[in-house]
Amino acid sequence: MFNFRNLKLVSNNPGVMTVVVDMPDRAVNVLDQSLLEDLATLVSHLEQSPQVRLVVFRSGKESGFLAGADVKQLHEISTAEQADVVLKVGQDLFSRIAALKATTVAVIHGSCLGGGLEFAMSCTHRVARDDAGTRLGLPETQLGILPGWGGTQRLPRLVGAETALRMILEGQRLSAAKAYSRGLVDMIAPPEQFEAALDKFLTDRLAGKSVRRKKSKWLAWLAWLRDETTAGRWVLFQLARRQLGRKAKQYPALPAVLRAVETGLRRGIDHGLAAERAEFGKVLFSSTCRRLLDLFFQRERARKPATWVSGTENNPHTVKTVAVLGAGTMGAGIAQLAAFQGYHVVLKDIQQDLVDAGIKRINQLFDDAVKAGALGSAEADHARLAVEGTVDWKAVEAADVVIEAVVERMEVKQDVFRELDRRLPPMSLMVSNTSALPIHEMASVTQRPDQVAGLHFFNPVHKMQLVEVVKTENSSEQTIATLVELVRNLGKVPIVVAEGPGFLVNRILFPYLDEAVRLVSEGATAEEVDREAKRFGMPMGPLELLDQVGVDIARDVSHSLSALSGEPSPTPEWLAAMVAKGQLGKKSGAGFYKYSSKGDKEGVAPAAQVTHGKPALSPPVWFGDGEMVGGIAQRLILSLVNTAAVCLSERVVTDAWIVDLGMVLGTGFAPFRGGPLRLADSWGLQHVVATLDRLATTCGPRFNACALLRDMHQRGETFYHDAHIERDVEVMEVNAM
Ligand code: NAD
Repeated sequence: MFNFRNLKLVSNNPGVMTVVVDMPDRAVNVLDQSLLEDLATLVSHLEQSPQVRLVVFRSGKESGFLAGADVKQLHEISTAEQADVVLKVGQDLFSRIAALKATTVAVIHGSCLGGGLEFAMSCTHRVARDDAGTRLGLPETQLGILPGWGGTQRLPRLVGAETALRMILEGQRLSAAKAYSRGLVDMIAPPEQFEAALDKFLTDRLAGKSVRRKKSKWLAWLAWLRDETTAGRWVLFQLARRQLGRKAKQYPALPAVLRAVETGLRRGIDHGLAAERAEFGKVLFSSTCRRLLDLFFQRERARKPATWVSGTENNPHTVKTVAVLGAGTMGAGIAQLAAFQGYHVVLKDIQQDLVDAGIKRINQLFDDAVKAGALGSAEADHARLAVEGTVDWKAVEAADVVIEAVVERMEVKQDVFRELDRRLPPMSLMVSNTSALPIHEMASVTQRPDQVAGLHFFNPVHKMQLVEVVKTENSSEQTIATLVELVRNLGKVPIVVAEGPGFLVNRILFPYLDEAVRLVSEGATAEEVDREAKRFGMPMGPLELLDQVGVDIARDVSHSLSALSGEPSPTPEWLAAMVAKGQLGKKSGAGFYKYSSKGDKEGVAPAAQVTHGKPALSPPVWFGDGEMVGGIAQRLILSLVNTAAVCLSERVVTDAWIVDLGMVLGTGFAPFRGGPLRLADSWGLQHVVATLDRLATTCGPRFNACALLRDMHQRGETFYHDAHIERDVEVMEVNAM
């Protein structure tokens, strides 16, 4: 009867139709135009079929229900009118599903995100398989947009406005259990009992039984007061606005969500849907949204092996066993990640008590993952068994890849590489997680320098998405291909970088941290410095970051990296003085700040040395995009931007987008700015170079603009080809206000 491309209809019982969504040429289902068309045809049929009393929507793919809208199609929208049409099509379709006479049930497993959840919310009921892969959420704000197919209207009606706002503004992805406890789904069951529970659920619906949820009267009254009364709503939205603070300007989708939700609650769903479309049309063309979408595509690009290595002769080796040497902070983190992702892992240290401490840390990480719903407890127990702790070299000999995370001392690392080279089979790779030591010197003590490279994980390993794959002059393409594949399989984003001090991320980050310490040594307070960095959009201030990393670790790295600045730096000495006074950062209760035993910040700690005078600060500068930047931020940010350009000119990486993606994922560099080189484009290279020139005069030659920046400015070039268009958009926004 139908000729659907993406749907299969099954009707075993009279009055019941099961619709299986299974897109033929995709690994995951996404709501693209062809699926929307299929669904519209189906809904027209259902509207004319009163005999169908129950419609069950489920996915034919193990990867999940529906992963959302097609981001590529979204990116291709070029006018607000076009956006309005696309949104109206989806909104109307879901409103028609919501209005069907038949009871509709979305059966959810795996990803049910964005448009997928908006679709599921238009059904009468949602049920979810309670396993670790199930995730429900509206994460659109992370791409700089808002849910546009009714999500801002239906979610508050299902879970209450306060919970809905938190979910949308934070882009939360809920596990099945959390979705159930918040009222987003009506039934959950573990995988082995799921089909039986679903059968019963559907039978009860056919019998006309209502879904019963225990709800405390008190909580229901509170929810009514908050969502349904003018005063309650006023308080809720005032508080939400205040909490957004400066983020409201940096991420325009966030206040747009508030406006759309508020309109819907105040004036009804039709007005709410119209507001949702109007707000979407405004934010889609904002520079923030363009940059966040770019970062999304850059991330996808980095995860494609062909971005880094080509040629079939460079096919990656198969990796089954990973050995990790050193069971400390990094070693335990890497071993846990590899076991989590299904590798057999050997974890070696020099003493049994150190191995035991590492295994304990791994168990804690698994417990946390279970608590967060990222893993079922049976899966976690299985993965724990994949880790073999040992002090014996013998167990390492079967590894396809060995990652060393031993202490940061060259002679220790070289001893380890010598031993490995003697013991490992000829095809096995040897990899260092060093922060700053030259990897080619480790490779030089082996007979296989082509099979040696770096894998620079960031701390904490389970949270940080980026891994730098460090290529020495001798690392073979096949070694890099195998490591890129390994990083992908570990669920992380690889970027391939050339060997050099600090690789890419720490090399660029260091001058920024150095500048922060210099400012303090010149008399600025830690709070002033951190406040300016956060105002710029950094997730935490540079001095807070140093306290978190550990002042002792930073001191060690500062020796090698400060040598690159072209001018003596007070930082190594300043940090050494802090270490001498026991101010190691958060872990010791004091660093630049004081901390309670729970790790909460409790004011500024006494300075390590006496300072005189005031820091050298230039007056605020207006940059090309109309942003005014104060003296402290100029020093912090331009030192970082200048070094980012140096890294590109020295070919640490091959393209500007890799620098930007690395800094956003590796350091949290303000994502709405798109990365340091994207920032240089939007501030305007002429303004960047002129400000660097001024800083070089007032602060010192470390601010000399790098030749690449100067040349590009003289030639009128930009790092990104669409930089001019982007600036036009920003001017339009200013005019529109
Ligand atoms: P750590 O001190 O916590 O752990 C090092 C472990 O290596 C210790 O348990 C030690 O006993 C063990 N070890 C020493 N010699 C060994 C040997 N010959 N064989 C096996 N184990 C041996 O150190 P960490 O912070 O985990 O750092 C490890 C490496 O990772 C260093 O190279 C460091 O620069 C790098 N790194 C650290 C971070 C970080 O934030 N901590 C981030 C990225 C990279």
